Amino acid sequence: MSPAPVRVLLVTDDEHAYKRLCARFEALGKYYSLDWVAGTEFLSSPPSQSSHEVYLLAQSENPNDLLKLVRAACKQGLKSPTILFKSPADGEVLSQVMAAGAGDCLEDASLDPQSLKRALDYAFLRTQFQRELESHVQERTAELVSAENTARRCSEQLLEVSRLSAHLSSVRDIPSVLRDATDAIRRIIGAHVARSALSLSSEEYQPINSVSLSESYVEDPDAVNRVGTEALDTLVARSRHVIRLSQAEVDSLPRGLCASPNMDNGMSFRGWLAAPIVTHEGQYIGQVQLTDKISGEFTETDEAVLVQWTQVAATAIDNVQLYEGMYDRDRRKDEFLAMLAHELRNPLAPIRNAVQILEFAKTDEHTVEMARQLISRQVTHLVRLVDDLLDVSRITRGKINLIKVPVDVAEIVEVAVESCRPLFQDRKHSLQVDLPNEPVRVRADLTRLAQVLLNLLNNAAKYTDEGGQIRLTVQKEENSVLIQVADNGIGISPEMLPTIFDLFTQVDRSLARSEGGLGLGLTLVRRLTEMHGGWVEASSAGPGQGSTFTLHLPVLTDDLPVQHPLAYQSLKEVPQQKVEGRILVVDDSRDSAESLATLLRARGFEVRTAYDGLQALALAAEFPSDAFILDIGLPKLDGYELARRLRKDPKSRDTLIVALTGYGTEEDRRTCFQVGFDAHFVKPVDLNALISLLASARRAVQHGGR
Ligand code: ADP
Repeated sequence: MSPAPVRVLLVTDDEHAYKRLCARFEALGKYYSLDWVAGTEFLSSPPSQSSHEVYLLAQSENPNDLLKLVRAACKQGLKSPTILFKSPADGEVLSQVMAAGAGDCLEDASLDPQSLKRALDYAFLRTQFQRELESHVQERTAELVSAENTARRCSEQLLEVSRLSAHLSSVRDIPSVLRDATDAIRRIIGAHVARSALSLSSEEYQPINSVSLSESYVEDPDAVNRVGTEALDTLVARSRHVIRLSQAEVDSLPRGLCASPNMDNGMSFRGWLAAPIVTHEGQYIGQVQLTDKISGEFTETDEAVLVQWTQVAATAIDNVQLYEGMYDRDRRKDEFLAMLAHELRNPLAPIRNAVQILEFAKTDEHTVEMARQLISRQVTHLVRLVDDLLDVSRITRGKINLIKVPVDVAEIVEVAVESCRPLFQDRKHSLQVDLPNEPVRVRADLTRLAQVLLNLLNNAAKYTDEGGQIRLTVQKEENSVLIQVADNGIGISPEMLPTIFDLFTQVDRSLARSEGGLGLGLTLVRRLTEMHGGWVEASSAGPGQGSTFTLHLPVLTDDLPVQHPLAYQSLKEVPQQKVEGRILVVDDSRDSAESLATLLRARGFEVRTAYDGLQALALAAEFPSDAFILDIGLPKLDGYELARRLRKDPKSRDTLIVALTGYGTEEDRRTCFQVGFDAHFVKPVDLNALISLLASARRAVQHGGR
């Protein structure tokens, strides 16, 4: 096939010029065609851009007209017309037309066919080159515009995602977060279907699903069920990455993997885009899937936007969980404070009543005894509450140090049973204790382990109706010992069992419940047991079926001898006979000092009191004492300094010095012993323990022991 001729348009008002050129064109053959148009016509109605490849502009009389034509031709997109001068062109005119855009200049008079052909071919190539360049520029411009559109759309989408993030920060429940987020991502990416699923590890949350459909799906909501399969869900859960499939890829998937929705209703699903939702700690918590893009296929930009969305969704879910946790802790704290106020008031009311009773029943021995017992019971209860509170706070802050020594479990049992006996008698319970024949030794802090057992026994007594049967069994296994407290009381429902050892857990939280307590006891039991290398479990066949609590403790296998800590020796040996000795009691609370002095005098001691450190020093000089009982927070000279000075004085260097204080942390105890105290008691003191200590100190002095 012969190539199309190069079409040339001659622009001139000079007919002779046209004729001369026609003759030359004939010599060039059919590969060049020539048309002619007058200059005025060219200016008034320019030909279409593609009609000719080459413009030839013949020189007219007026150089300005020529310049006009050159400019008009350039505007036509043929940027470099060839100028045909009649005779050699004037240098200035030449440079003017070249500046206006002319591509070449010929001289009519000397134009032979070969030169014309070369000039035409050159002009043709110029035009071709210009056209290619132009189309290239157009293509690049289009690409830039499309990239700009994509970038604009992407930033709009990201803006939407950040708006979503702001919105979600005020949403307070997880189903709403998932619903709003799923709806938003479907709109942001522009898909007909978005589906997300969450399964949080925490037991409080059930798996949650959320689906968002475009209006065209509202008519056919079942369509969503045909999108995706369990196999795809598993793929997303395991992938940890965004997965994007084009429609062709979806169609080519095996049928089991993707129940392609294109089957029954001829609906096209235009691709599939999915991403896992992963927490900031890297834990997989759910996923989102989008199908059927409204226009075109899912793109890389959609993928990037979805990644941002998953982060926003994960953060929002995290925040709700944090908020709920905080709210829950706050609520439990409020409940706890209400309970605490109630529990503290409970014993105060009967104590106040008893004080009034004592006022009018001065000589009625029976009533006085009844009031005394009542006050004693309620104060013991109050002391336990405060002790438990402080213990829990110390244990949770890791501030309790156990003093572990080899002890026989029977001894721990004995101490605990003795302490709870009054409550058991009060409630008419029977307590059966089964101990193994052989001693079972554990390495334990006797005080703390007895406290654990005492808590379990007290609970058994509290949560069993009057006249119940409680059994304490100690059983040795290979390397451990089981200490079991079983009752036939109210029992525990299966749903409460897993949390029964948690702080503040109480089955009956109504303020009107009959049994006091702050829900701290079992937390202490668990923590203290764990601090002894053991563990504790609770079991119950259900409400009304009784409960069993079992401690598992490691037994001691070496031969270290059993030790009997002083505190418990004194607890057990409560001296009932009169004791002697001179005691100086120092306390800035006069009521505390005088009431203790009265009690000690009643037991046979000779007692003096002082209310500040300096007064105590002066009194110590004139009243040689067998023991000093010192408060720590004293005016003028605090208890620590007072003890230091007493220790320095040769007269009191070996005297028993006892701290009796409200400061009961391990740190306080340690400081006391460092400055020279012999013993440390927390207020209110167990009088029997104090008297035993004073009596034993007195005996030691008599036998020259101290
Ligand atoms: P408190 O007794 O002060 O409420 P605890 O931590 O000792 O706190 O016990 C927590 C809860 O466990 C109690 O409120 C009670 O509901 C339940 N519980 C504890 N021991 C028993 C038991 N032996 N029988 C039935 N319920 C019990």
